[in-house]
Amino acid sequence: MAAVTGTPLLEITDLSKQYHGFTALRAVSLTVRDGEFLTLLGPSGSGKSTLLMAIAGFVQPTGGSILLAGRDISALPANKRDLGVVFQNYALFPHMSVLANVMFPMRVRRVARSEARRQALDALDRVGLAGFEDRNPANLSGGQRQRVALARAVVCKPRLMLMDEPLSALDKNLRERMQVEIRGLHERLGLTTIYVTHDQREAMAMSDRIAVMERGRIVQAETPQAIYRAPNSRFTATFIGHANLLRLDALEPRGAGAEAMATERGAADELAVLRAEHISLDPDANGGDGFIFAAEVVRTLFQGDGWLVLLSTTDGASVEARISVAEEARLGGIAAGSTVRAFVPCGQLSFVPAASQ
Ligand code: ADP
Repeated sequence: MAAVTGTPLLEITDLSKQYHGFTALRAVSLTVRDGEFLTLLGPSGSGKSTLLMAIAGFVQPTGGSILLAGRDISALPANKRDLGVVFQNYALFPHMSVLANVMFPMRVRRVARSEARRQALDALDRVGLAGFEDRNPANLSGGQRQRVALARAVVCKPRLMLMDEPLSALDKNLRERMQVEIRGLHERLGLTTIYVTHDQREAMAMSDRIAVMERGRIVQAETPQAIYRAPNSRFTATFIGHANLLRLDALEPRGAGAEAMATERGAADELAVLRAEHISLDPDANGGDGFIFAAEVVRTLFQGDGWLVLLSTTDGASVEARISVAEEARLGGIAAGSTVRAFVPCGQLSFVPAASQ
């Protein structure tokens, strides 16, 4: 995905929100650049919707500022903020045609009817719904309805698009198709988008940058690759993908690079993050520097393109390894109850503070 180098469009500084003494946002600061697709990702209750609603103008922050294109919008009503919104609970008007739904924001802005119609038809065309303008929303599939909502959100060419879990009601296949479509629309229209999801796969697939939220804070905001490769806390490591967290001194170094890493990192109060796909059960076939540990095979699960192997280390820690069909064949099969030697290369390790959450 192309790096986003645009100028800052949205600048949030020290934004906080309290609901009757409960703190939902804790001094959140975030800059979103022009053209960027940024996702707020976090578990339920971490403050994603509150942050998005504050940007939209539906929630009044307790403190902090929100600048859009350099202008403080904190005091502006929602309909004056130049935003497109697609929210779960922001349904289509059931008694209006598809066209009337998409024309609605332009009618509110008192755009002339013929011009509103032209732009609404254009927006429907862009979301792949040309020819559907006279239908009633009740006669559309879930995916088509969500496309109408997208058309309605983009029809006024907003400076910023806000989407809160727009695909959560759709089944898995359609959700994945719509992820591609929303990302494509974002690029074709040159939008700047803030997207909320609790689904880490969706976040990784769609975003230029992910802001991970935990208990009202943004704890890491980087590219999906950077967050996956180098999470900065136990929380992020385990929330984004599956992470095996092991003490480095429980692993046996192999090679000068691993010895040096063990010396440098071993004393620190850190845990090594081992991703399942970086673990091999065939250390002899992997010549480089790395770490080895013995483990018992608890269970193997065939996954079509490989095997998920559940391991238990001699210290009793559970570890998930994902290995290729070729490796499993080379080892002559992997039997539950057998003892294996697992290997992870130095270059694939990252570290998080053991004391972090
Ligand atoms: P998320 O979108 O990550 O699930 P929310 O922003 O919806 O999280 O909520 C963050 C926290 O704020 C939650 O603990 C939630 O219960 C609380 N909260 C949200 N809205 C309100 C409200 N109107 N009144 C009181 N508490 C609220």
